Amino acid sequence: MIDIKAIASGSSGNCYRVSDGSTALLLDAGIPIHRIQQGIDYRLGEIAGALISHEHMDHAKAVPELARRGLLIFGPPEVAKACACPSILSGPALRKFTVSTWHIVPFKVVHDVTCYGYVLDSRKTGERLVYITDAAAVPYTFGQVHYMMLEANYSMNILSRRATEGAIKDELAARIVQTHMDIDGAIGLLRGLDPRVLKQVWLLHLSRDNSDADAFRRMAQRTTGAEVYIA
Ligand SMILES: [Zn+2]
Ligand SMILES: [Zn+2]
Repeated sequence: MIDIKAIASGSSGNCYRVSDGSTALLLDAGIPIHRIQQGIDYRLGEIAGALISHEHMDHAKAVPELARRGLLIFGPPEVAKACACPSILSGPALRKFTVSTWHIVPFKVVHDVTCYGYVLDSRKTGERLVYITDAAAVPYTFGQVHYMMLEANYSMNILSRRATEGAIKDELAARIVQTHMDIDGAIGLLRGLDPRVLKQVWLLHLSRDNSDADAFRRMAQRTTGAEVYIA
């Protein structure tokens, strides 16, 4: 059983803790270090590493502090530069690496900077977790996944209604569409998953103004039959 905890999610900061019972990892670190510490009960020593999706501060804010404290950090090559942390590890997409009991494969998703999603296979539990955020599109399908953590930033209906009403500027609405995943894109990815093995779906990075958490949860539930959580 993999344990997932959402410490923060959304455009003001993203950070999740995942553990297979042997090894705990952080997925993104886009909040101040003291909030990460609170979220992990001040047990940074028990975190084996942090996987960073990309350089935007809502995903990488605490990277310099975590690096200073000696945590193993992996991300796309641009993260080390943006955070001025040469000690951050990187590697090309689709090259597998191992952190203790986890086998990890980064893959590229479509965003306005290089952004990695991650496939995490636990040798401890034999389960697979997939993490995807800040992705206008994902050029892969995933069949056998036990835990799916997936951005569902906005609803196209809500976004276009707000643009028509003038509640959101057209340029911003266009930028969101080009850089983030809407609920329909998320449901499309969920449809490709094998419902016989899928246990949990976590919908991430919901926009405060352009999403509907209850409706998103129901849609994901209906599509997958799995437990659905809104981060
Ligand atoms: Zn983001
Ligand atoms: Zn971003």
